[in-house]
Amino acid sequence: QAKLSTWASNIAPSPTLAVDAKAKELKAAGEDVCGFGAGEPDFDTPEFIKEACIQAIREGKTKYAPAPGIPALREALAEKYRNQGVDGVTAAQCVVSPGGKYSCYLAILAVISPGDEVVIPAPYWVSYPEMVKLAGGVPKTVFAGLDSNFKITPEQLRAAITPKTRLLIINSPSNPTGAIYSPEELQALTEVALEAGIYIMSDEIYEHLLYDGVKHVSPASFSKEAADAVITVAGFSKTFSMTGWRLGTLMAPPAVAKAVASLQSQTSSNATTFAQYGALAAMQNWDESMAAVNGMLEVFDRRRLTLLDGLRGIEGIECARAQGAFYLFPNIEKLGLSAADFAARILEDEKVAVVPGEGFGAPGYIRLSYATSDEVIEKGLKRLATFCAQLK
Ligand code: PLP
Repeated sequence: QAKLSTWASNIAPSPTLAVDAKAKELKAAGEDVCGFGAGEPDFDTPEFIKEACIQAIREGKTKYAPAPGIPALREALAEKYRNQGVDGVTAAQCVVSPGGKYSCYLAILAVISPGDEVVIPAPYWVSYPEMVKLAGGVPKTVFAGLDSNFKITPEQLRAAITPKTRLLIINSPSNPTGAIYSPEELQALTEVALEAGIYIMSDEIYEHLLYDGVKHVSPASFSKEAADAVITVAGFSKTFSMTGWRLGTLMAPPAVAKAVASLQSQTSSNATTFAQYGALAAMQNWDESMAAVNGMLEVFDRRRLTLLDGLRGIEGIECARAQGAFYLFPNIEKLGLSAADFAARILEDEKVAVVPGEGFGAPGYIRLSYATSDEVIEKGLKRLATFCAQLK
């Protein structure tokens, strides 16, 4: 048989999707699985967003759209970023793509050539290193564990930058840790990147999922210089419970946005036309959208605290109080088995699905998503406690 490409041979399949698939398989076989694997909200998309999409289909908006997105949605995105303090952003700098994941990939393809280095703070979202490798780039990870609240320092960043570095990836709030950088911390990292003359890809897909009163800021809003170096990725999936719609966004300096639009025009073409009209309704009815998000946040927050309390009550588990996204990322090193073994055994023995940390560049940790019902959290915590107790 003819051999596969270098790209195909080098890429690892997404471990988060793999856990989810295994848990779903067990469920389909009739097992009572407590799933903490999913990286998606368990709510439905708000009704008015669905209605706008249905309306668009009825009106025949079922044809190709301009590759970078429908003009009204790009304009709405530009306005959102101007309101967030990124002065002078135009619609031409905003691209709508088939998912935040694709926005990330195109951002990387737009600025990384073979051999270029990309600084990726670990724990990282599983796809970043793989995307960098697909672009021919070299991922350089910088680790920050529980004792640093999962946040790298400007000194660590400075030490990781070489003459070959072209990009820093920041993901705040973070998947998998739920950690969020303060505006001051972000500013300090941004300054180091600007001094080095590298791009920043700021993945803000979880920008609205915040707790304990913390605030989100976009590094692009710090200064004109920052806006010229930051590629901001976001999307509708996590905020509005629209994972299946496949709609991501990107806001970038003009030359990068233009390159991303060209890459998109030659690969995916536009994101689904009528789906973009649903997203447009979300942007144009912002108060209603935020009311829906706040409803979800209230529930997420309650579950976050239940899960955090429960995990902290289990001997051998250490867990940070994450303030963003919908994940907790406890350390399980004291329990004496690898995260991969922990995840495999707890799924087998107790039918609890968690994602092992190895895929996030953090062996010794597991990721639990609390985008699941209170009932699953309560039951899952009991099973976790039983499992951990028999490890001693
Ligand atoms: N970025 C991060 C950090 C994520 O966790 C995800 C989804 O899991 C994405 C981007 C992509 O989201 P989507 O492609 O569903 O919009």
